[in-house]
Amino acid sequence: MVKAPRGSREDIRRRERKWLANAPDWVAVVGEPQFPPACVNCGQPPAGSVEIRRVFSYVLDTSEGLDVEHIEAFLRVPCCAACAATHAAEASRAPGSTSWLRTLTVDGAGAGGLIICCVGLVFAYAAATSDSLPGALAMLMMTCGALTTGGLLLFGAWKQSRFSLPSADTVVSRAVEFTDLLQEGREPPWRAYRFRNDAFAALFREANADRLRGKPSRTKNG
Ligand SMILES: [Zn+2]
Repeated sequence: MVKAPRGSREDIRRRERKWLANAPDWVAVVGEPQFPPACVNCGQPPAGSVEIRRVFSYVLDTSEGLDVEHIEAFLRVPCCAACAATHAAEASRAPGSTSWLRTLTVDGAGAGGLIICCVGLVFAYAAATSDSLPGALAMLMMTCGALTTGGLLLFGAWKQSRFSLPSADTVVSRAVEFTDLLQEGREPPWRAYRFRNDAFAALFREANADRLRGKPSRTKNG
């Protein structure tokens, strides 16, 4: 797994832009890219499209210390029937979904959330079997509190475990690479793309001729 870039958000972006300025096979496109009518992998006429997922992870230096940030991005690319079938077969063999075990073990929050939810259920049982109305109400309130807290912890752990899941490595996902959004200041959003198939890369450049971004050789404020 690639080590997450580290620094302030601005530093990381500046480094990426600098690196990109010397990477001629990457195509920087402003806004939503247009795709040519060709399979991203083999160049045949496309039968549909396939969604590629990437997770960009950063270790950010903030005033409160280090903060890990994950950004999930998706790109829908044109694909022929044969490549789509191979992609689907490969994706089905990859660790696809977030398992319960993964959610509970990714960090302590998942297991803690489960325990707090269980305590909530004990309170619920106490509320249901309580003889006095005030006692039952108090138990009910504690049930709500415990279930909310436990649920939030579980949800946070589930989200975290989703990011730790690698994107499926398939014939289609290997055919295309893309960066996170790289705009600075008041620039419109843009990112860069690279295609393994040279003919497709040329068609892609053509299809986006009016939205290509000049190479970020210098930054306005850096
Ligand atoms: Zn194909």
